[in-house]
Amino acid sequence: MNANLPPAPAGVALLREEPLARHTYLRIGGPAEYFATPTDLDELAALVTWARAHKLDTRVLGGGSNIVVADEGVRGLVISLRRACDTTRFDGDLVRAGAGVMLPALARAAAEHDLGGLEFAIGIPGCIGGALQSNAGVGDGRDIGTLVESVDVLDGDTRRSLSRAALTFGYRTSSLRGSGLIVLEAALRLHERPRAQIDADMQRLLGARQASQPTAEPNAGSMFRNPPGDYAGRVIEAAGGKGMAVGAARVSLLHANFIVHDGSARAADVAALMLEVQARVRAAFAIDLVPEVEWWGDGSPPLAFAGAS
Ligand SMILES: Cc1cc2nc3c(=O)[nH]c(=O)nc-3n(C[C@H](O)[C@H](O)[C@H](O)COP(=O)(O)OP(=O)(O)OC[C@H]3O[C@@H](n4cnc5c(N)ncnc54)[C@H](O)[C@@H]3O)c2cc1C
Repeated sequence: MNANLPPAPAGVALLREEPLARHTYLRIGGPAEYFATPTDLDELAALVTWARAHKLDTRVLGGGSNIVVADEGVRGLVISLRRACDTTRFDGDLVRAGAGVMLPALARAAAEHDLGGLEFAIGIPGCIGGALQSNAGVGDGRDIGTLVESVDVLDGDTRRSLSRAALTFGYRTSSLRGSGLIVLEAALRLHERPRAQIDADMQRLLGARQASQPTAEPNAGSMFRNPPGDYAGRVIEAAGGKGMAVGAARVSLLHANFIVHDGSARAADVAALMLEVQARVRAAFAIDLVPEVEWWGDGSPPLAFAGAS
């Protein structure tokens, strides 16, 4: 830790060495050197300016559902937008949702307004900000990118609004990913739909998840992107990957694209297991599995993440 750093901006609560395992779905990860949950956009701007002035790397944490954090943790500042960007405003069939709003909560709020479009998001445990990075969606092609009208971002010190035309969304990726922009809010265009139909659709999706995913164990969702024309879970299972383990991390017996553990696995175990799974699938089918989850760590990422973008 840099003992010479001046205190955080006035009034902003700054935690030191905050364990990120507390903030990730996988329940794994060492500490963030600095961790803040600003209460409003002024505090957020002050934090960003402070971090830049002191040359600290800054990362934004959403729901923590798509990251694997190194056992050593990360240097620099991690910011949660859970409080600063937590509002939802409906205007006809347009909804403006803060980056820290959880997708399932937004899907339920939309249903209460008889607005469809977000049904697919009911079982995705991420925030709007995180969902826009990976264009979160489901297998039938529904995703958040198709709903986007505009996205408000913090670009350095400046708040800007990016129109739909200025953004691109692809399979589990978008032009926001890796851009360095902090998403503050998104305007999503929904459509009128009777509440009963929305609820039925969401119940069906939740039921399917419950039956096919290891929801009771810590996990980070799908570990690998689907290879073209196939499913990562199918090829891992066909290659005999179900049940493979490194340390306490193992490939779920329920869904082969999920890695689960009993609470005692390390990030190094997860990364080593991913590498073994990749090798097994490459040997069986000559397919290179690319991680869907993102590695958070200092220095070079583990080998399993070498092909990740
Ligand atoms: C049980 C389970 C089921 C899942 N099912 C699905 C699914 O069906 N479909 C799917 O697509 N995904 C799924 N996921 C993965 C994950 O939920 C999504 O990718 C989600 O959108 C990630 O959002 P997050 O807020 O958790 O992001 P995080 O994991 O917190 O962060 C992911 C990335 O987004 C960045 N980020 C977060 N917020 C911001 C912001 N405001 N501004 C800039 N960058 C930001 C982070 O810095 C990081 O780079 C699942 C995960 C789990 C655990």
